[in-house]
Amino acid sequence: MRILFLGAPGAGKGTQCKRLSAKLSLPHLSSGDLLREAVKAGTPAGVQAKEYMDKGVLVPDEVLIEMFKEKLSSAECKNGFILDGFPRNLSQAKSLDELLVSLNSGLSTVINLDVDDSFLTERICGRWTCGNKACAAVYHVKFAPPKVPGKCDVCSSDLTQRADDKEELVKARLNTYREQTEPLIQYYTEKKLLKTVSGEGDQDAIFNNLLQSLQVTA
Ligand code: AMP
Repeated sequence: MRILFLGAPGAGKGTQCKRLSAKLSLPHLSSGDLLREAVKAGTPAGVQAKEYMDKGVLVPDEVLIEMFKEKLSSAECKNGFILDGFPRNLSQAKSLDELLVSLNSGLSTVINLDVDDSFLTERICGRWTCGNKACAAVYHVKFAPPKVPGKCDVCSSDLTQRADDKEELVKARLNTYREQTEPLIQYYTEKKLLKTVSGEGDQDAIFNNLLQSLQVTA
């Protein structure tokens, strides 16, 4: 299966994609994670991306297209993939279409993880992640707090907050989503690929609805 996730920042794409990736044994390709790794490693793409990420706006298309060309052509993706965060605007969506055609492939389904605006800011600003990359468990100060404040329940590593999950940047990220990414809902609806799943409520229930819409047995 070749699945693409759409949804606003804070909709819970990362959490659900990780679970789906484990369930279907498919690679989870998160553009945000790939960019943060590039920033941390100080690669040329990372250095270029950082100034945009620090402002909550989109990194230039060519950086992302190059990154995903390499990933999607790799053996890791030969049985399918779960895309999270790419494409993020119409021009990236068209480039992805062309790339998949060149690989004799195409998307199976696009999932729109839908969450009411009123929940998003609180969800994002309370989010903390385990700093151990191999674990990367996600917590929320109010909705899913760790047992010991600041420490991961699974591996006891320190929890970290993403630099762009601070309130002053969240507004910019939500505006970027509304202006540039939301039009993709229409784009994939017209291609008859879009399925909307509610991202509100209990994580297990959301995951079960997701499996149902993908026609995968729980
Ligand atoms: P995310 O973790 O998906 O919220 O992404 C964090 C930041 O990375 C975004 O605010 C953007 O600056 C950048 N980013 C992630 N995906 C893309 C993309 N497809 N195109 C451009 N910028 C992106």
